[in-house]
Amino acid sequence: MERFMPLYDERAELAPRDVVARSIDDQLKRRNEKYVLLDISHKPREKILSHFPNIAAECLQYGLDITRQPIPVVPAAHYMCGGVRAGLQGETNVRGLYVAGEVACTGLHGANRLASNSLLEALVFARRALEPSIDHMNSSRIDRSASDWWARPLVPMSLGSNVLGKITRRTREVRKELQSIMWDYVGIVRSTTRLETAEQRIGELELDWEAYLFQQGWEPTMVGIEACEMRNLFCCAKLVVSSALARHESRGLHYTIDFPHLEESKRLPTIIFPCSPEPPQD
Ligand SMILES: Cc1cc2nc3c(=O)[nH]c(=O)nc-3n(C[C@H](O)[C@H](O)[C@H](O)COP(=O)(O)OP(=O)(O)OC[C@H]3O[C@@H](n4cnc5c(N)ncnc54)[C@H](O)[C@@H]3O)c2cc1C
Repeated sequence: MERFMPLYDERAELAPRDVVARSIDDQLKRRNEKYVLLDISHKPREKILSHFPNIAAECLQYGLDITRQPIPVVPAAHYMCGGVRAGLQGETNVRGLYVAGEVACTGLHGANRLASNSLLEALVFARRALEPSIDHMNSSRIDRSASDWWARPLVPMSLGSNVLGKITRRTREVRKELQSIMWDYVGIVRSTTRLETAEQRIGELELDWEAYLFQQGWEPTMVGIEACEMRNLFCCAKLVVSSALARHESRGLHYTIDFPHLEESKRLPTIIFPCSPEPPQD
């Protein structure tokens, strides 16, 4: 077992998470390994068990005693920096829509999330958004005729269970494929070429999937959970890729080999696509 983090950063294992993730990624590629080992066994057993009771119990279920053995680990996507642009009360530029937690882009995290800030963010902003959203509900008059402006959404039951089953299976496959594209081409270490490849493949996958839906008799007004989520995933994936392509520097969790350094002259605010007005202040 060879300790490698000091080779990458003087802060070693305590370097920021993007540095550690890139270092692990580099080691995995160099050594053609599937995981690296995280060893905490030099700490007193009681200390480990009192600090990490859940992880210790979980690992033990798989026969791994973390007080004596190293833990196999790989980097994983575990936070989305960005999201629906929100003000300090969770308000958005859609009047009456409030967001809190990981879905929100409050500016709290900058280019890299600090440890445990996401849970704090979810709690603080949920609390902040509560009163204004209740006030909004109490003061707004709902125009019930507004829903007649659009065609009524159709539940796709009329397609029959056979066709619906096929659509669901295909959508699940497409979802996995999109996840693979994002992991392989838009992951820890990026490049312009790989991002462009992702952009192209995502576009093709989306067109292909949409065409499949309509071949199966899907109609524009049909609404189903899997289809809605798939469209949202495509939308998010495309936004992440186009934002990454627009940033010609590396900053926080965005690292590209074509622009590997932090460059103040290329600094951009959190990228918002499409250009949207400031969130309402009332
Ligand atoms: C591996 C991992 C480790 C992490 N470690 C930490 C950590 O140590 N410290 C820390 O602070 N943060 C950590 N995070 C991040 C933190 O867990 C999340 O940011 C936080 O849980 C987000 O909370 P949320 O309520 O905003 O969203 P979520 O917890 O994602 O909740 C969203 C909910 O909405 C539901 N939902 C989705 N779509 C629909 C729909 N269409 N209709 C109805 N419901 C829907 C989902 O089922 C889910 O229950 C970690 C995340 C991961 C993945």
